[in-house]
Amino acid sequence: MTFVVTDNCIKCKYMDCVEVCPVDCFYEGENMLVIHPDECIDCGVCEPECPAEAILPDTAPGLESWLKLNAEFAAVWPNITNRRDPPADADEFDGVPEKLERYFSPEPGEGD
Ligand code: SF4
Ligand code: SF4
Repeated sequence: MTFVVTDNCIKCKYMDCVEVCPVDCFYEGENMLVIHPDECIDCGVCEPECPAEAILPDTAPGLESWLKLNAEFAAVWPNITNRRDPPADADEFDGVPEKLERYFSPEPGEGD
């Protein structure tokens, strides 16, 4: 089991999660983060820290495709452990539907 980052992180990217992860298993894309499923120790500390409620346990229903996306991009995006300021328009995108289809970027973020 692991935790996974889901749709509402896209273009919100508040980054509160990276500060609390004890094993530093967040990886940064251009406009979202993902969790490396093989590194996550399933502690659950990050889940309540996410203002966008984008982090869920993979035991929640319907998350197979998100688990796959987290695994795929954690392998190629840079590691991120220090919080930076979120995008200026992050609050405007909180709760916008279908972000994956409309806004997902496969490009890497800056990392630490
Ligand atoms: S706190 Fe939530 S919205 Fe922010 S980067 Fe982490 S998962 Fe994404
Ligand atoms: S559940 Fe724990 S180990 Fe996994 S990403 Fe969240 S804080 Fe890190």
